[in-house]
Amino acid sequence: MTGSRKGLLVVVSGPSGVGKGTILERLLTCRKDCVFSISATTRAPRPGEIDGQHYYFLPPETFNDWIEQDRFLEWNQVHSAYYGTPREFVERTRAQGRHVVLDVDVKGGLEVMTAEPDCVSIFLAPPDLEALRWRLRHRGTESAEQIAGRLLVARSELKHMDRYAYTIVNDEIDRAEAQLEAVLEAEMARTVRVIADGQVQALFRPEPEPILPKPPGP
Ligand code: 5GP
Repeated sequence: MTGSRKGLLVVVSGPSGVGKGTILERLLTCRKDCVFSISATTRAPRPGEIDGQHYYFLPPETFNDWIEQDRFLEWNQVHSAYYGTPREFVERTRAQGRHVVLDVDVKGGLEVMTAEPDCVSIFLAPPDLEALRWRLRHRGTESAEQIAGRLLVARSELKHMDRYAYTIVNDEIDRAEAQLEAVLEAEMARTVRVIADGQVQALFRPEPEPILPKPPGP
């Protein structure tokens, strides 16, 4: 195949505790053509989180500077901190033909859909709210008050599910991950993308003039 294929922009949203982190980690481990976009945030690192690996942990002043310099594809206040997607990395990586995966809240997701209409939007949903509450409790990184807040935000995020092209219900991790990969494969095979990426150019080259045998003559 020929052509310079541009990587997909994959936007994944879903309520806190739905298992986005786990599913994306699994995807990125087995798909070397997918790269995670590391967000910037003003929140403090949790135990075990590394600057430049999980997030770029920025002081609020630096985050503001980045906003003013238009360095974010989108940014938003989520819970009590700011989060943003660095634009340059997304553009550079997609131009190299690799798929960029964003983990953003719903407001950020809707912003990306407006700015980049060809993105692949995926909502990761829990089978029910009880499952979400259970996961948030067992994760052990939030207080009871924070959990209640996150469940409240989850309810309002679920209302925007219908704005996403795909919804994957994370009731069983292997199945959910397989479905996520299937979505990526299907998106890559969309005719508009295959044509725009020049993958089938050779099919449309003009036929060479046929060499006809000379007519028998005197
Ligand atoms: P956490 O603090 O638990 O890592 O993330 C909290 C929420 O922030 C999650 O819903 C996550 O999707 C969202 N988030 C992470 N990075 C970004 C980002 O760059 N932009 C936006 N809008 N949301 C983000």
